Amino acid sequence: MKTFEPALDALVGREITAVRRVGKMPVVEFGDLALLIHLMSAGRLRLFDKRASLKDRASRVLLRLEDGRELRLREFGTKQRAWAKLLSTDAVGEDEAVARLGPEAWPAPPLEEFAVLIDQPRHLHPLLRHQGDIAGIGRSWVDEILWEARLSPFKKGSELDGEEVARLHAALHVLGDAIEHYEEAIGEQLPDKVPMPLQVHKREGEPCPRCGTAIEAVFFSEHQTNYCPKEQTGGRVLKDRRLSRLLK
Ligand SMILES: [Zn+2]
Repeated sequence: MKTFEPALDALVGREITAVRRVGKMPVVEFGDLALLIHLMSAGRLRLFDKRASLKDRASRVLLRLEDGRELRLREFGTKQRAWAKLLSTDAVGEDEAVARLGPEAWPAPPLEEFAVLIDQPRHLHPLLRHQGDIAGIGRSWVDEILWEARLSPFKKGSELDGEEVARLHAALHVLGDAIEHYEEAIGEQLPDKVPMPLQVHKREGEPCPRCGTAIEAVFFSEHQTNYCPKEQTGGRVLKDRRLSRLLK
């Protein structure tokens, strides 16, 4: 918990009135109080049928429901990065994690607005993931969007012509498709390992589902990017920036 006032037990006896999303963050509303959650990369928010065992070291926040079920924020791995804040529902929009967000990537903003957002001299991969410019796109989905749009992760936003901007804008439907996929495939029971409907992310060496060319990987600081060299980089295999730095 990143907040202590009001205390978490202010939720005792309240009803969950809404669950929504802002950028990459889920928000669980309890009338005029709301829990703003950042899952980071290893967190999961999941409803369990039974109470957690005290041995469940992955639990970060537990909310017991009247019917015996339990809503748990859990995080895998040793790093404790996921967080939650209990705020007044009216104040969620003013929280620093929310106020700094750009427009939502899904549903996609109008094309003209999107064109202005990405007209920046920065590589598309970090640009699309920068929540302050456009909110809701993470590491996996940026690869999928760029593959769908047939654009290089190292092309700059300001270098795109009108047709490329339109292609990138149209490719944002990948996010809507993913939500639909999860709603159908998973329903209410979220497993520990969620099968993601990915075509290229972390699929290096596998054939591109569209053209059959082997998917390539490039490491960009600690992040991995995957792409189809034939369709996205004009046949060029991008230099591994992590490796080239080590070799210097
Ligand atoms: Zn391809």
